[in-house]
Amino acid sequence: MFNRFLETEDQVIADSLKIRFYPISVKSAKGTRITDQDGKDYLDLAAGWAVAGIGYGHPRVSSKIKEQYDTLSFTSQLSAPEQTMVSLAQKLIDITPGSFPKKVWFGHSGSDANDCIFKLVPLEKNRSRMISFMGSYHGQTLGSLSLSGHPAQSRFIGSGNVVKIPYPNPYRPPFGETDRLTDQIIDFLENEVFKTVCPAEETAGIIIEGIQSDGGLIIPPDDFLPRLQEMCRHFGIRLIFDEVKVGLGRTGKWFSFDHYGIEPDAVVLGKSLGGGLPISSVVARKEMLDVGTGIHMFTTSGNPVSSTAALETLKIIEDERLIENARHKGEYFISLLTELQKKYQWIGDIRGKGLAIGVELVEDRVSKTPAAEKTAAICYRCYQLGLLAFYVGIHSNVIEITPPLTLTKDDIDLAVSILDQAFSDLEEQKI
Ligand code: PLP
Repeated sequence: MFNRFLETEDQVIADSLKIRFYPISVKSAKGTRITDQDGKDYLDLAAGWAVAGIGYGHPRVSSKIKEQYDTLSFTSQLSAPEQTMVSLAQKLIDITPGSFPKKVWFGHSGSDANDCIFKLVPLEKNRSRMISFMGSYHGQTLGSLSLSGHPAQSRFIGSGNVVKIPYPNPYRPPFGETDRLTDQIIDFLENEVFKTVCPAEETAGIIIEGIQSDGGLIIPPDDFLPRLQEMCRHFGIRLIFDEVKVGLGRTGKWFSFDHYGIEPDAVVLGKSLGGGLPISSVVARKEMLDVGTGIHMFTTSGNPVSSTAALETLKIIEDERLIENARHKGEYFISLLTELQKKYQWIGDIRGKGLAIGVELVEDRVSKTPAAEKTAAICYRCYQLGLLAFYVGIHSNVIEITPPLTLTKDDIDLAVSILDQAFSDLEEQKI
């Protein structure tokens, strides 16, 4: 993988346009900072694609997992379960809204958890079709890839029983009108999709990201998710939230859908859940998971070490008031970015909830032509200046800000000053 970086500087920059990782070899990481083999520090604005929610190397997780490994390194949760996994399941049930009976499934990645949905929801409903959103990213395995609607990932591969509909993007409204976005998409579903390619009575579930992350950090209008829930209930369709990236406090509430009072039928979690260790879960209505006993299971899932890490991670989120921190620091971050927007015409849109923020770059604010190459250049310049930032979006033109939830005001000041420098260098054609 690193061979491609052992080239000239020009080659490195050319590659930076196509890929989203940088020519560093990481040696260590602590809190919000990563250190490379040469001892250079980087502020990680992406938290390793939103995995390091509580920051890197948290001492509480470190001591708990060591203790757990020394006591019980492994037991098969399929045949001889132990208590930590059960406690974790209970905690996840407690923080997930809905007073109905729930169950929890454990896996290793967001992808295998979304595969769980892909298998079990049609089975439970005895309906063959699923609906997801264009621009969505649900993972790399065949099932999760089939649910995905991100062009970079799912253009050529995937199963045919998934219909993809437009995501309500206020900045780039799919039917041309931001004011009527919710009405237009619900209307499209009910009067086009359900009456043609995918009848409601054949639709088992709709899976959605409350903030479409890899699609460009897109936040739907406030009335969209409540309307979607209402429609799903009307037609007996399961509503599933993929919270793998923005769940567990990042948006300033436990879950993105908590901002709208939604009670999903199932919630998919991963990434930050394990404090860096691999673990994912599906928290769902009991009857949804009862149907699947034995049809989606992995030998090491729910293992005691990952479960311990996850349980401690959830406690840290509460004890350190990281949800509140995400909310307040997110507001501060956006206020500084808004100032930056006044200086640089390429910043077309800034949107965010808590510490899930997107900065969309355009060639100009009237045409809104996506400025993909400029976005890559800015990110690459940030990397050179000690700030790890990545870009996402179906047009590859959105700087993704999903840092550790422990982010401080000083971190934000530093990040914005580096971004300012990068934009200024681009303006002066230094990069
Ligand atoms: N779901 C969402 C919303 C994601 O952002 C991702 C990864 O980026 C996944 C699922 C897949 O997770 P994993 O890479 O752990 O399989």
